[in-house]
Amino acid sequence: MFENLSERLERSFKILKGEGKITEINVAETLKDVRRALLDADVNYKVAKTFTDKVKQKALGMNVLTAVKPGQMMVKLVHDELAELMGGESVGLKLEGRPAIILMSGLQGSGKTTFSGKLANMLKKKQHKNPLLVACDVYRPAAIEQLKVVGGQIEIPVYSEPESKNVIGIAQNAIKEAKAKGNDVVIIDTAGRLAVDEEMMNEIEALKNAVNPDETLFVVDSMTGQDAVNTAKEFNDRLDFDGVVLTKLDGDTRGGAAISIRTVVTKPIKFVGTGEKMEAIDVFHPSRMADRILGMGDIVSLVERAQEQFDEEEAKRLQKKIQKNKFDFNDFLGQIQQIKKMGNIKDLASMIPGVGKAIKDVDIDDNAFKGIEAIILSMTPKERTNPEILNTSRRQRIAKGSGTTVQDVNRLIKQFDQTRKMMKMVTGSRMSQMMGAMKG
Ligand code: GDP
Repeated sequence: MFENLSERLERSFKILKGEGKITEINVAETLKDVRRALLDADVNYKVAKTFTDKVKQKALGMNVLTAVKPGQMMVKLVHDELAELMGGESVGLKLEGRPAIILMSGLQGSGKTTFSGKLANMLKKKQHKNPLLVACDVYRPAAIEQLKVVGGQIEIPVYSEPESKNVIGIAQNAIKEAKAKGNDVVIIDTAGRLAVDEEMMNEIEALKNAVNPDETLFVVDSMTGQDAVNTAKEFNDRLDFDGVVLTKLDGDTRGGAAISIRTVVTKPIKFVGTGEKMEAIDVFHPSRMADRILGMGDIVSLVERAQEQFDEEEAKRLQKKIQKNKFDFNDFLGQIQQIKKMGNIKDLASMIPGVGKAIKDVDIDDNAFKGIEAIILSMTPKERTNPEILNTSRRQRIAKGSGTTVQDVNRLIKQFDQTRKMMKMVTGSRMSQMMGAMKG
């Protein structure tokens, strides 16, 4: 995401490269470029103008600074101002009610149902909450079913009344059920329309008044550009919502919505959705988003996501196995599955500074692991724990079973052997022997 804007901004800063100091002229030139880049990225006109005016003021006020290069200073100024524009600090959810109630709003297809699931999953895993999902989209026949599928995936209960069209009644019954069953968060998924219409607004407004939510979130597809900002404004005028969820930031969005929404509706962006998987949700951090827009990568988010998937007990267990040279194909498979859970591989890689641009046109295939998985899954349990027994006829059988070739199987086994040896060397006692020898 934001590749275009990032590239354009980087080019703008080049004007200052080689310039010894910041002057009114080179600042004006740079910022004219920055402004054009923002407008092309669908940033609201007024927002872009105010933005560049502010940066200009700051830049000119700073021209005594000689320690940093003008280009670097400009990047920093633009970065900080972008972060400020997107809200400065990250704002969390206020979940005080017993149960706490979260109401989703937004147009059809914006990603409400998907996000309801992602949020429930996140609250369960990270905050040890016990959420209940509520299906209040009673118009689209498949909507209830869709929420049930999502709930099933993440093992979170879904309350629905397929026969009823009375959304207030459904929501109130769901809250009663939550109290009875000890669910501490109730997430209400509502109906959207293709465009803002009066009937839908009336319904969600009435629903909001009836259940008095702790948080009303407005979900919006970031790919819709300027429309996203207009829709946000209309919903906010009626609902006075508490926060914005920007979905589909993994797509081909130009990013303008992320930058202008906050200024136009003066409500914080609280979460972003970056994919269709249940794990593809991030808490919105303005400063980190500014990093991404400027192509500086987002190491912090990457590390956080990696940590979430990291299980300390499991790591200790693996280390013991490696030391005893018992690391086997089951462990290998487990590792692959963990990496896959972290999300789309290209997305992950693009968060590393410098890598994003480099791999922009490279086709990284999430299916790269599929062949490997298929081969391991075609092994018998005995073969997986004792790779030594993999003789030629076994290898032939595995190739057939996994739809690969014997060469593929041989290659994987060879890689596995090498990995195992290397792991042992790094973590095992030989490492300390080597270190000892070197010191001695
Ligand atoms: P709703 O009508 O507002 O409930 O929207 P849905 O949750 O049904 O989402 C509409 C479509 O967008 C579905 O195909 C989702 O899989 C997809 N979607 C939702 N969030 C994201 C996201 O963050 N990234 C991507 N790529 N797709 C998403």
